Amino acid sequence: MSTEKIQCPCGRIINSPEEYKVLYLKHELKEIDILCPNDSCYLRELGYIKFEIKDGKAVFKEASFYPPFVTWNAGRLGFENAEKILKSHLKAIAKKVDWVRLSAPSAT
Ligand SMILES: [Zn+2]
Repeated sequence: MSTEKIQCPCGRIINSPEEYKVLYLKHELKEIDILCPNDSCYLRELGYIKFEIKDGKAVFKEASFYPPFVTWNAGRLGFENAEKILKSHLKAIAKKVDWVRLSAPSAT
């Protein structure tokens, strides 16, 4: 078992930030859901990205993973190590968000 890999409490190993699913359903709340890649995951939502609209453009506001997911990984990897990896994952996820699509008022 690798000690450098992020894992969801459901057991799914997340090798790279590419594996998370990103949901754009909460456009009105200006929030994007970060989901576990495992479709039958009991947690489903692992974190979120919040954004705001400035001059008609969606811009990054904040991103975070939820406590159950963070605690699980901190317990396995150590808090500092887990925090470091999870932060880099959030950065990578925020990078691949379709900000242009979010900026459109009719985005679904
Ligand atoms: Zn999961």
